[in-house]
Amino acid sequence: MADKADVIVLGMGVGGEAVAGALAEAGLDVIGIEGRLVGGECPYWGCIPSKMMIRGANLIAEADRVDGMAGHADVTSDFGPVAKRIREEATDNWDDQVAVDRYTAKGGRFVRGWGRLTGPGQVEVDGNTYEASRVVIGTGTSAVVPPIDGLRDTPYWTNKEAIEATEAPESLLVLGGGPIGAELSQMFARFGTEVTVIEGADRLVSVEEPESSQLIQEVFEREGIRLHLGEPATRVRHDGESFTVGVDDTELTGERLLVAVGRRSVLDQLGLDTVGLDPKARAIEVDGHMRAGDGIWAVGDVTGHGAFTHLATYQADIAVADILGQEGPPADYRAQPHVTFTDPEVGSVGMTEAQARDAGISVQTGTAPVPVTTRGWIHKAGNDGFIKLVADADRGVLVGATSAGPWGGEVMSGLAVAIHGEVPVDRLRHMIYAYPTFHRGIGEAVKDLG
Ligand SMILES: Cc1cc2nc3c(=O)[nH]c(=O)nc-3n(C[C@H](O)[C@H](O)[C@H](O)COP(=O)(O)OP(=O)(O)OC[C@H]3O[C@@H](n4cnc5c(N)ncnc54)[C@H](O)[C@@H]3O)c2cc1C
Repeated sequence: MADKADVIVLGMGVGGEAVAGALAEAGLDVIGIEGRLVGGECPYWGCIPSKMMIRGANLIAEADRVDGMAGHADVTSDFGPVAKRIREEATDNWDDQVAVDRYTAKGGRFVRGWGRLTGPGQVEVDGNTYEASRVVIGTGTSAVVPPIDGLRDTPYWTNKEAIEATEAPESLLVLGGGPIGAELSQMFARFGTEVTVIEGADRLVSVEEPESSQLIQEVFEREGIRLHLGEPATRVRHDGESFTVGVDDTELTGERLLVAVGRRSVLDQLGLDTVGLDPKARAIEVDGHMRAGDGIWAVGDVTGHGAFTHLATYQADIAVADILGQEGPPADYRAQPHVTFTDPEVGSVGMTEAQARDAGISVQTGTAPVPVTTRGWIHKAGNDGFIKLVADADRGVLVGATSAGPWGGEVMSGLAVAIHGEVPVDRLRHMIYAYPTFHRGIGEAVKDLG
């Protein structure tokens, strides 16, 4: 006999946990189903541990910068103790059982296992059937493993193994120079690993403005990270000791190989066809209130609107309001922000210049290089960066912006407010920017808009 509830949440990652917890707290009978760890990718193998590792790596780089400024610090650091500490702190804060207890304390019921839809309002887990009139899917994404000759037969790393590493390898080949590949490359390089990035596109972080790619490439090359851009890897071998990756006529070798070529929703295992959804699609299509169909909602990476924790929680709030019958605005992705946590950090929001031009917008751009702002000059070593604004000249508002540099992601927040609130450029021009801050560069870039 089926176990009945008001709502079933399939996948208790960032988005699913937020939805299940909020609905249970609101008094609904919720069954949350999770095959792995409650909390999902972010706290165990994603945002949190990677940013803890990056923080450690950046401290080493920052201490090295003391040379030539106030004095000299001879900093040596070993990856092992940092990795151990991260693991200890992560298990204190993001323990799966703590997450399950937190959720069940709100009144939710929890089922561990891999769920599959078997019909409208019906999910099966290990032979048991659960029924509810409303189902929320938050099954996330997995690392893409591209069909490169030989790759699948090798002990390659994805983000999971890279985050679980207890020692920095002597050398690391990284397939993919997107945000995850770039962040982990610089982090390992700063712990002493010889890193080579292989990227099929002709630039790193190609979702960002070309200026951001140029900046990150210059910094990486200066830090000794080797770049192979514009040629995809075509073959991979592992001889028991090391990896060899073929890129055109060149063979690159490394102790480890990290595959970071993107993320993909795995929909074909979810039984989507039984509820009229396409299991072959790249993502589950949702409307502005996260409805994917009758009695079905989807949140997070699986919706294909961007693989970010802040997006999963944003969509979770919207789905919860809709399920509870509360009025609220539909999802609005115009001011969607994201940060690549390299050093310099690249924070961006809204459209790139190219996206705005493609959308037929009458584009105006303004730029301010960070090193020539007062704060950039004061900062000296590590002051690489720029602020770039993309304005709609007809409407007199910003539609996109990038803030690359020290705390680039934090500086970007003001730009996100401007885009979200459609603050007229003229008001930004007549606003007071504190001296001497990095965000004062926004004022310089506004002046450059003309
Ligand atoms: C290395 C790395 C760094 C990142 N850094 C950042 C960052 O700095 N900032 C940021 O915003 N985002 C970052 N992200 C992205 C972020 O982790 C994801 O966007 C976020 O976890 C998405 O949440 P979600 O709920 O959609 O999916 P997930 O967190 O992936 O959760 C989905 C859950 O569903 C479960 N599941 C799947 N199928 C089933 C099934 N059939 N039955 C039961 N359970 C199932 C999975 O086990 C998983 O726990 C990073 C990701 C990676 C890999």
